Amino acid sequence: AGLDALDMIVLSVILLGTLVYFTKGKLWGVTKNPYGDPLQETSGGKDGASRNIAETLEESNKNCIIFYGSQTGTAEDYASRLAKEGKSRFGLETMVADLEDFDFDSLDCVPSDKVVMFVLATYGEGEPTDNAVEFFEFINGEDVQFTQGADVPLGNLNYVGFGLGNNTYEHYNLMIRAVDKALQRHGATRIGEAGEGDDGAGTMEEDFLAWKDPMWAALAEKMGLGEREAVYEPIFSLTPSDTLTVDSPEVYLGEPNKTMLEGTSKGPYNAHNPYVAPIAESHELFTVKDRNCLHIEVDISGSNLSYQTGDHLAVWPTNAGAEVDRFLSVLGLTEKRNTVLNVKALDPTAKVPFPAPTTYDAIVRYHMEICGPVSRQFLATIAAFAPDEATKAEMAKLGGDRDYFHEKVNARHLNIAGVLEFVGKGKKWSNIPFSAFVEGITKLQPRYYSISSSSLVQPKKISITAVVESQVISGRTDAFHGVATNYLFALKQKQNGDPNPSVFGQTYEIMGPRNKYDGIHVPVHVRHSNFRLPSDPSKPIICIGPGTGVAPFRAFLQERAKQATDGENVGETLLFFGCRRSTEDFLYKNEWDEYKKAMGDKFELITAFSRDGPKKVYVQHRLQERAEQVNKLLEDKAYIYVCGDAANMAREVNSVLAQILASQRNITVAKGEEVIKNMRATSQYQEDVW
Ligand code: FAD
Repeated sequence: AGLDALDMIVLSVILLGTLVYFTKGKLWGVTKNPYGDPLQETSGGKDGASRNIAETLEESNKNCIIFYGSQTGTAEDYASRLAKEGKSRFGLETMVADLEDFDFDSLDCVPSDKVVMFVLATYGEGEPTDNAVEFFEFINGEDVQFTQGADVPLGNLNYVGFGLGNNTYEHYNLMIRAVDKALQRHGATRIGEAGEGDDGAGTMEEDFLAWKDPMWAALAEKMGLGEREAVYEPIFSLTPSDTLTVDSPEVYLGEPNKTMLEGTSKGPYNAHNPYVAPIAESHELFTVKDRNCLHIEVDISGSNLSYQTGDHLAVWPTNAGAEVDRFLSVLGLTEKRNTVLNVKALDPTAKVPFPAPTTYDAIVRYHMEICGPVSRQFLATIAAFAPDEATKAEMAKLGGDRDYFHEKVNARHLNIAGVLEFVGKGKKWSNIPFSAFVEGITKLQPRYYSISSSSLVQPKKISITAVVESQVISGRTDAFHGVATNYLFALKQKQNGDPNPSVFGQTYEIMGPRNKYDGIHVPVHVRHSNFRLPSDPSKPIICIGPGTGVAPFRAFLQERAKQATDGENVGETLLFFGCRRSTEDFLYKNEWDEYKKAMGDKFELITAFSRDGPKKVYVQHRLQERAEQVNKLLEDKAYIYVCGDAANMAREVNSVLAQILASQRNITVAKGEEVIKNMRATSQYQEDVW
């Protein structure tokens, strides 16, 4: 039988699809627009380009590729900084690359006159960041297959490595350590030391700065690079549009992607595409006036989002209006805030970090971390553009002198506009090219919150419990305000028509771009976690969560109470909760009684109030008091969960538990620690800490 019309169509579609697949879209010039249709995120390299590293370097005339494994943007930022410095100081042809965009079996094709850099953050319990999962699995694989299959596959590869970690976590900087080992195992040559930055000690930036100079010296020697005086070379060009105005429909006013711009937003909702969720309800949880903790419920019923008890909600914040104004003002851009800009990458391998055409206002409000900690290196870079010589000298001093910088900038929590105001003494910094900020300031990051509701009880309504970040800082007249929590605070105030809204809180652009967040909405996505209740509800659990660390345990209790009400056999449930005072910050004080009613003897709440009595009592003290019971439960294979402060509490709890095991089981503390290690490895001990 001959082919009918339908067959012909089907065949042509298959043929076309195959061609597109094998040419990776190159024949058609198909490009991957990172802000285009979020459904169309291709698996290929950026701009439909090759996923082969050597090929990419060759085609783009580069001799240095800097990969980042980043979760919160810092590693990506460091990668960009290395790229800029390599180019301006040493004339390297650098490019920055997302690990996700490449295949690593091509590492063995990179010739020895090129260098590959890895800037890798370790996330949570020694996990790779989301974009580094595949790379990590590949490089650590049992029988890794590289393209050429040589005996010493990476004998030609020169690499540089820096890790971002946190010493308060068990597996400090595991990513860079493991990758470094794996690369050497395959014969690669590391240049300089494998650097390690420690967020736990608060020295990340300084660790990075201290590591990179000897690394550059080693690299310069190895590759025979000459050093020259670094001059600023832009990576992006931002030019005012002749034709578009702030009212043109194609101008992005803060919309994160094209579908939201066009009003056709649809799932899947993820880290590239937030769901603008209605806030169903919001209220204050503390009873004191000077501190705030928010309970916020977002309604996801209008989306195809789903979550599981123990997951995280990512909130996409907006910068405070007062900070946006300050930033634009100190750069002399106030009048131009609504100028429409066309943004282009001058280097084809660079990715514009936000969708364009757009305005100064939208870039600063929705896309740049303008309130975050200032980088000392960035101050040195922009010193050249100071309004006068004295200011320039002061700026160079801040950039060059670690202690002076700490005292004047970091200890006071100044942000970039704050530094420019303080150093410039009121003068405008209108000479700094705006591209320097686009390149030098981190992208505004979503903030994560442990979901405090159970997906069994309320599958379409996600709640979070967030303490509002506000600190009085010595040497400053105004308080320091955290970005996302104060934005959420403003949303809560608006929703509740609070009689005395905070002045700061009210300056947020709550309605969002083109009023798209009107009616109290917040852009969010769900991040799945491994923090999970045992699948068998009859297993006992021990939960330790002081402060907002109680968030996921409210979810756990909601879930177990429901299971108990439904007649399931629910295991013993101990919750250790701590706060300052029983009358001030006792989160969900009244709810625990309800869970108790449903669960009876199976639930016990053990509280520690640090300021109620003469002696400070914390959850770890209560844990110690319950040594026998805790040990018995662990012997019965109880799961143990710790949530909240990583720097102090989680560490203390870990060491108290080791002591409990030692005393109760007649073993050494070292052995107790080993038992805990094993419990972690089998997920009997789980942490959700930050
Ligand atoms: P930010 O503006 O991000 O500031 C946070 C801190 O950064 C400041 O306190 C300060 O130490 C430092 N900083 C910021 N700017 C500067 C500056 N210019 N100079 C010096 N230092 C600066 N929080 C909760 O309340 N509840 C939860 O359930 C919860 N769960 C979490 C789960 C996970 C997995 C993670 C990673 C975090 C969680 N957090 C939770 C913390 C939360 O994500 C945010 O970090 C927190 O709410 C602060 O956000 P913010 O934007 O208000 O503050």
